[in-house]
Amino acid sequence: MHMITDVGMVYDVLQENHKKARENYRALMEHDVKSVDFMGSIGAGKTTIVCELAKLLSKRGLRIGAIAGDVTGRDDFDRMVAAGVTAVNCNTGKECHLDAVMVNKALKELDLDAIDVLFVENVGNLVCPADFPLGTDYRAVVISVTEGDDMVRKHPDIFLHSDVAVLNKVGISDAVGVDPGILVKDYERLTGGVKKMVLCDAKSGNGLEEVAEALGLGVVG
Ligand code: MG
Ligand code: ZN
Repeated sequence: MHMITDVGMVYDVLQENHKKARENYRALMEHDVKSVDFMGSIGAGKTTIVCELAKLLSKRGLRIGAIAGDVTGRDDFDRMVAAGVTAVNCNTGKECHLDAVMVNKALKELDLDAIDVLFVENVGNLVCPADFPLGTDYRAVVISVTEGDDMVRKHPDIFLHSDVAVLNKVGISDAVGVDPGILVKDYERLTGGVKKMVLCDAKSGNGLEEVAEALGLGVVG
């Protein structure tokens, strides 16, 4: 929850964030690390996508690092470690999003020369992460069919602030009565037809290659 109401203060916070984001971007670039910030609601499947992508990419010889952003606890961090990822746990306390200052601290705990790809899992939230770029190459928003067919219409900002949109759990679309086509169309309309939503089922692995490709981490990319 954002408690700041003073406009000048908001400006300062965002300025500081952007400064640190540039610093993070430079550090990652200097160490030749490709990076993605995964944003999305609680339960959309961000952790599963991070873990399954990591498994897919490590088979190709890439070394994967991750920052697990959560308000509290180490559940996602433990899942990442179990998936063979070099992870850092980043608890935000009360904040409902990661900011570039937190990521800057987490980066200092990682040996950037020992990883090729960094996945940042943001706190589950479709609203304020949009305002806080972290300095990653890509920002990806993950939604799932279980959230309903109106997610793009309800949260246009986060989709406009992202490079890639992923629709997860498409395998259970019928069971939850959601037509993925509606989300796909809404996203195309929002982005002027320039970008296509990537459909996947991270648990079964369906569409994971397409997600990797959209993030510049494909076989060819
Ligand atoms: Mg998670
Ligand atoms: Zn927030």
